Amino acid sequence: SIDQPAISVTGLAKSYDAVNAVGPVDFSIEKGTIVGLLGGNGAGKTTTIAMILGLVLPTAGSIRVLGHDMLTDRHRVLHRINFESPYVDMPMRLTVRQNLTVFAGLYGVGDAKGRVAELAESLDLTEFLDRPSGKLSAGQKTRVSLAKALINRPELLLLDEPTASLDPDTADWIRGTLDRYRRERNATILLASHNMPEVERLCDDVIMMKGGKIVDRGAPKALISRYGRSNLEDVFL
Ligand code: ATP
Repeated sequence: SIDQPAISVTGLAKSYDAVNAVGPVDFSIEKGTIVGLLGGNGAGKTTTIAMILGLVLPTAGSIRVLGHDMLTDRHRVLHRINFESPYVDMPMRLTVRQNLTVFAGLYGVGDAKGRVAELAESLDLTEFLDRPSGKLSAGQKTRVSLAKALINRPELLLLDEPTASLDPDTADWIRGTLDRYRRERNATILLASHNMPEVERLCDDVIMMKGGKIVDRGAPKALISRYGRSNLEDVFL
């Protein structure tokens, strides 16, 4: 129903032997919003996203996505979500077209050919469609990853540092594309970032993580006035 959050986690935790990677954390994310997980190296962002996706099994807690229990009913909801994560590499020997066609097939996209062409057009990839993915520049690879992440028109998109190591213009362009996608489809986006300007540009709300815990949450403007723009990264990252 309309009122169900896109994501809701309760008591979510992951530990590796003596290392507490995440939690326990509780948070929920409303549909149609873009929320950032902001934190420095080792804050637990990647592990949190990987648990929501089912790539990492939690030590404790529950995860609901679009009204379904992800630990027991993941198969009911996987076709409605998508992601970009360093946990999953793109096959570099396949051409861009082959890559996107494979993912379109995995997601059961009806008109795979048309969808691949449409995404290539909107992500400025048409001229690279028949090039091996491994031969692309970093910015072009990111656009292919994004095309893959949008192939099934997901209601929920999880992204792990989508603009890391890109030049500022490409990063801005990617952010604009994500924002436009959210607006056009009222989609929900959860993204990990350690980049305050990025979350300021994109996010309605920011969850700040440190040492696997949530230390604060608020709109970017509110956090900036609470901590001071220049302190913000130093305080938390
Ligand atoms: P980064 O920006 O470096 O990816 P992060 O916020 O995404 O940081 P995580 O990758 O989630 O942080 O890691 C959180 C903590 O869990 C770190 O201390 C990390 O060393 C630890 N950790 C993550 N994966 C494993 C693993 N497979 N085995 C042992 N420890 C792990």
